[in-house]
Amino acid sequence: MKYTLYLSILFLASCASNMPNFTIPEVKATQSDITIDDFKSHITYLSSDGLRGRGSGTPGDRAAKDYIVNHFTNVESSTKRMVEVQEHYVSKSRLTPKNKVKTYNIIATLPGNDEQLKDEYVVIGAHYDSVKNTLGLIHNGADDNASGTAMVLELFEHFASINTHKRTLVFIAFGGEELGLLGSKHYVNNPTIDLSKVQLMVNLDMVGRMDEEGNVQLGGSPSAQNFSSKLHPFFVNSKINIIDLGKGIFSRSDHYNFYKKDIPVLFFFTGILTVIIHFV
Ligand SMILES: [Zn+2]
Repeated sequence: MKYTLYLSILFLASCASNMPNFTIPEVKATQSDITIDDFKSHITYLSSDGLRGRGSGTPGDRAAKDYIVNHFTNVESSTKRMVEVQEHYVSKSRLTPKNKVKTYNIIATLPGNDEQLKDEYVVIGAHYDSVKNTLGLIHNGADDNASGTAMVLELFEHFASINTHKRTLVFIAFGGEELGLLGSKHYVNNPTIDLSKVQLMVNLDMVGRMDEEGNVQLGGSPSAQNFSSKLHPFFVNSKINIIDLGKGIFSRSDHYNFYKKDIPVLFFFTGILTVIIHFV
């Protein structure tokens, strides 16, 4: 997502690094439980200076892809899974549309356990790229969107571990989001599953800045009939404070390409309003 100049400045200020050595952290084993340490481990790796912001077509992009593939493939569980890497080509800059580079969608599928429902799908996605580096500074992209990627990795591990899901779960890390939602656009035009059987797409983009009240903002509820009222009991029983933003569909992240294919979407994020409030 691209935001205001204020946010760009904030991002530059918070993420810039002058460290001379761009070391990449070790890849650590994670636990099947969802833990703070596991989140930290994923985010530390993905947003390390060594990956230099994971811009599409860069060595950092490929390193992030390898990290995600490794996690999806090697999470300890006997649950069967299918891991696929979908290559696609994106313009490195909107100013030079003919200059294409290769990036990736990384897809991990966990088959459902219910005979009737296993042919239906729930997609859980997040983009793993960040904005391109400018002015010699690295945009580490810890919040946008190593945070959402870490959540996808941990949710995959959790569901692979307990293996109680009825519908087939499809976890996707999208490349090329910052260049115009290009990974999700490529996916919905080249799906690995029958999109007409997708019951829900959940998108996680910028989920690393939850405030002290535990507020989490939710977009997408107008994407299905009576969605808000059906979701409300889950909100009430949640330990976090989910704020249903209602009105309209936020169009600047990957769920939007699924929405355009008539798929109900939910979009979780934290912090945008919090950050803007500090500036107004
Ligand atoms: Zn984003």
